[in-house]
Amino acid sequence: MHMQHVRWRIAIPYIVLVCLVVLTLALITGQLLRQSALAQEKEELLLQASVLARDVREPLAEGDVATLGSLAAEYAEILGARLTIVAADGRVLADTQNTPLTMQNHLYRPEIQQAQATGQGTAVRNSDTLDVAMIYAAVRVDAPPSQSADGSSAGQALGYVRVAVPERDLSEQLGELRRTLVTVAVVAALFALALAVVIAESTSRPIRRLSAYVRRLAQGELDQPVLPTSTDEVGQLTADTMEMARRLRDTIASLNAERAQLSAVLDQMADAVLLTDREGAVILLNPAAQTLLHTSQEASLGRSFTQVVRQHELSAVWSAARDAHEQRAEVVDLGEQLWQVIVRPLDAVEPGACLVLLQDLTPLRRFEGLRREFVSNISHELRTPLASLRALADTLHDSALDDRPAAERFLGRMDDEIDALTQMVEELLELSRIESGRVPIRLERIAVAAFVEPAVERLRPQAERAQLNVQLDLPATLPAVLGDEQRLQQVVTNLVHNAIKFTPAGGAIRVTARTEGDQVVVSVSDTGIGIPAEAQARIFERFYKADRSRSSGGTGLGLAIAKHIVLAHGGRIWVESVEGQGSRFSFTVQAAPRSKAV
Ligand code: ADP
Repeated sequence: MHMQHVRWRIAIPYIVLVCLVVLTLALITGQLLRQSALAQEKEELLLQASVLARDVREPLAEGDVATLGSLAAEYAEILGARLTIVAADGRVLADTQNTPLTMQNHLYRPEIQQAQATGQGTAVRNSDTLDVAMIYAAVRVDAPPSQSADGSSAGQALGYVRVAVPERDLSEQLGELRRTLVTVAVVAALFALALAVVIAESTSRPIRRLSAYVRRLAQGELDQPVLPTSTDEVGQLTADTMEMARRLRDTIASLNAERAQLSAVLDQMADAVLLTDREGAVILLNPAAQTLLHTSQEASLGRSFTQVVRQHELSAVWSAARDAHEQRAEVVDLGEQLWQVIVRPLDAVEPGACLVLLQDLTPLRRFEGLRREFVSNISHELRTPLASLRALADTLHDSALDDRPAAERFLGRMDDEIDALTQMVEELLELSRIESGRVPIRLERIAVAAFVEPAVERLRPQAERAQLNVQLDLPATLPAVLGDEQRLQQVVTNLVHNAIKFTPAGGAIRVTARTEGDQVVVSVSDTGIGIPAEAQARIFERFYKADRSRSSGGTGLGLAIAKHIVLAHGGRIWVESVEGQGSRFSFTVQAAPRSKAV
C-alpha cells in the first residue's frame, strides 16, 4: 500500500516533467514553425507583388483602370490570391474580390504605409473589407527612370500593388505539421511514462523487499533468507538491517542459553527459591520450593506470597524485609518442621520485589536429635558397668577384703566389667574410625573361605558351650572376592556372635555363601528368638537393642560396625527374620574379576 506511494512519488514528477517539456517544446516549435512559414509566405507574396508591379507600372502611369483590372484578375487567377492595385493617393483602382469604387481609401493600411516608406510592406490582420484574417504584401510601384527625363514624375510613387491570401490557408498547412508534432509529443510522453514506471519500480522493489523483511522481523521471524544487497543506499540499509537481525538472533540465543542455565541451576537447587514482584505476587518458584510448600507452578504463579506459603511466620519475615528494604534471615520453627528463611529485597530490579530463600533444617534437627540420643545412650551404657564396679569396689572395701575367696570372686567380676567397658570403648573408637573413613579398606583378591572359616572356627567352642550346632557350608564353585580380609572377618564374627547370643540351647547356626551376579552373598542363619518386624529396620543403628530386657550384655554397636564395613566395601547388609523362629543376616561382597581364579 505505502510502497505504491513510493513508486508513484518517484514516477509522477518524472511524468509531469516530461509532459511539461514536451508540451513547451511543442508550443515553441509550433510558434517557430508558424513564424517561419509566415515569413516565407510574406516573402513569396512580396515576390509575386513585385512581378505584378513591373507589369502594372505602365497602365498605372497612364491611369488605365481597365487594364489594371484585367491584369489583377489574370494574376489572381494564376496565384490563387486576392490582388489589389492602389493609386498613390490611396484610391483602390482594382481589386479581385471587391468593386473598387465601394472600397475605402487604402493609403493608411499598414502594409501600404510600409510600402510607401520602404518600397514594400507586409501585414497580418483582419481585412476591413472582407472581415477575415489575411496576410498582406504590398509593393510600391515607382515611376520608371525614363520618365524622370521629362521631369514629370521621376522617383515618384505611381501606386501600390498588393497581394493577399487568407491566413487560414497557412493555418491549414501548419495544422498538419502541428498534429504530427503532437503525436510525437504524446508518444514521447508515453515512453517517458513507461520509463518512469520502470525506474520507479526498480528503485522501490528493494525497499519493498526490505520492508517485508522488517515486518516479518517484527513478528519474530529471525531466520529469514538473505536478501540481495547492492552498493547503493538501499543496499547498505538492507545489509545493516540483516546485520541487526543477526545480532538480534545472537543476543536472543545467548539470552536463551543464559536463561536455560539459570533455570537449570534453579531446578537443581536443593534450597527453595521464590521471587515476588512489587505487588507481592509470586512470579517464580523452583521445584524445591514447590516440594517444600506442597504446591505447583500453576497453583502459585500470580498469587500472593502469603497465599502460597500459608505460614504466618514466613509471611511476617517477608513483609518485614519488604517494608524495611533490607535483608532478613530467620529460623522459623513450624512445630513439625524447622525452616531457615532469607528474604532479600530486589529493589534494584524492581522496587518492592523480593528474593526468598527457604531451607529445610528439619533433617539437621533430626541429626541433632540423633547426636543427643547417642550421647545419652553412651552415658547410659557406661554408667551400668561403672555402677556395678562402684558397688563391687564398695563391698570389697567394707567387708570382703578379709574374706579372701569372696574378694577374689569380686575381683573376677570387676575384671569382667572392666573387660566389657574396654570392649565398648574399643568398639566405639572402631566405629568412629570406620565412620569417618580413617580405617583404610584395602581391597584384595581373597577367597570367601579366607574370612568366613577363621571367624566361624574361633567362635565354635563358644557355640558348643551354648549347645549350638554350627554348620559351615561354602560351595566349591565360589569365585574369589575383592575385600579386606581382616574387616570381613570382623563382620562374620559379629554376625555369628549375635547368632550364638540370641539362640537358645539346642539350636543351629548355619553359615553359607552363594553367587549372585557379580557378587557373593554371605548369610548367617540361626534358629533363635528372631527380631520383631518394627525393630528390623533399626538394629543396624548404633546402640540399638531390640529387646533391652533380654539383652545379653552387648553394646548395640556390633551391627553398626558390620554395616559400615560392608558399606565401605560397596556392598549391602540386611536381615530377614521371623520372631520366635530365627533370623538370617546377609551381606554382599563384590566378586573379583574372573580371569585370575583362586
Ligand atoms: P549387641 O548384640 O551388642 O546388642 P548388635 O548391634 O550386634 O548389638 O545387635 C543389635 C540388636 O539386634 C541386638 O541387641 C538384638 O536385639 C538384635 N539382634 C542382633 N542379632 C540377632 C539375632 N541373630 N537374633 C535376634 N536378635 C538379634
